[in-house]
Amino acid sequence: MKLSGLLGKPSKTAPHDADTANAKFLLQGGFVRQEMAGIYSWLPLGLRALNNVQKIVREELDAVGAQEVLMPALESKENWETTGRWDTVDVLFKVPSQTGREYALGPTHEEVVTPLVGSFVNSYKDLPVAVYQIQTKFRDELRAKSGVLRGREFGMKDLYSFHATQEDLERYYEIVKQAYLRIFKRCGIDAKIVEASGGSFTKKFSHEFHAITQAGEDDIIACMACTFAQNTEIATVKAGDSCPACGAELKSVKGVEIGNIFDLGTKFTQVFKLAFTDEKGERQTPLMACFGIGTTRLVGAVVETHHDERGIIWPKEIAPFDIHLVTLHSKDQTVQDRIVEVSSGLYRDLQAQGHKVVWDDRADASVGEKLADADLLGMPLRILVSAKSLERNGVEVKARHEVEAHIVGLDGVMEELG
Ligand code: ATP
Ligand code: MG
Repeated sequence: MKLSGLLGKPSKTAPHDADTANAKFLLQGGFVRQEMAGIYSWLPLGLRALNNVQKIVREELDAVGAQEVLMPALESKENWETTGRWDTVDVLFKVPSQTGREYALGPTHEEVVTPLVGSFVNSYKDLPVAVYQIQTKFRDELRAKSGVLRGREFGMKDLYSFHATQEDLERYYEIVKQAYLRIFKRCGIDAKIVEASGGSFTKKFSHEFHAITQAGEDDIIACMACTFAQNTEIATVKAGDSCPACGAELKSVKGVEIGNIFDLGTKFTQVFKLAFTDEKGERQTPLMACFGIGTTRLVGAVVETHHDERGIIWPKEIAPFDIHLVTLHSKDQTVQDRIVEVSSGLYRDLQAQGHKVVWDDRADASVGEKLADADLLGMPLRILVSAKSLERNGVEVKARHEVEAHIVGLDGVMEELG
């Protein structure tokens, strides 16, 4: 992709009211556009990062046997009344229709998925079954803040599993917990697991996954060496103690909740009257678990945990592009022709080799702007073609996290990048 034609170009100035790094860099870099408080459009660069997160989520959940579906965002009021949540969930958006009906604008999908799966489950042979979706959710949050970390409209992956026995539920719960750790790791985040109370659910157990960042709203006591963490409010440990899991020192830090998993027991399956015939021919109520990941929040959490004062430092798998190719213009026409020839050749060959390349081909941006934008946008590798580099018959190569660039000869570039 050429930067000159990109929708959502990086801006020279940071938004004045950005309260967090993700708000600042995602807006300034042109990854997202704020439409209203807590409501964003995802522009080409940002959407590529979000798509990368979603690809990882799909790969890891497909690998544990979950099946992808897509449920409606407009949900039945009757179903929300059935669970008693129409009047108790304060963040629920209620949508009136001209027909006189009302709908719930989905903040979560137990009210849809439970009867849906119930319509296909009749025997123990139909269990276990797990379905997930990646979908836009709506919550009437009192205070939208921290960029894409807390929105009123946001992306979520929600997975729901149904089981014949508690033992089977716990087996699958653990499998998904491990899949979550792999998802976050691939996103560059060493997630901490907080054993949590189940919120509005009357449940057996629940775990939250946190990314450690100052932008987080939750106070947690966490181990830097393993995944152990506790919410400060309920903690049986304190900062300075040894981690009960691995012995390393515990620290008091801020966390943002990027995922949450629950054992729901029969809370929803009972009210929607789900039943299956067990091996003895008896009718039983299936058990249910649910597993959420905030996909748009996760992109924000990646930025919070991967940036410096100049901009984002995208982890490899999330980066919108692998390579940021920068062309510096020369006033000498012969040199300029050569710069364009080398740049366009690299742009073509790198892509042919499977690299994702964004090319800063802008003729109207200064050297300083181009370098600042490369740092702001944060792709893992910068390749710079200039009169100076061509004097040495090469290009300057620099990883985003490195300080110094080094020259790579033109005949060695493709080989060096692999
Ligand atoms: P929080 O405590 O942050 O309000 P929650 O516990 O209400 O979140 P869940 O119902 O567990 O959220 O939703 C699953 C996941 O969706 C969360 O772990 C989080 O990653 C994400 N999420 C929840 N609310 C928002 C929001 N307003 N904006 C962006 N992501 C959100
Ligand atoms: Mg939660």
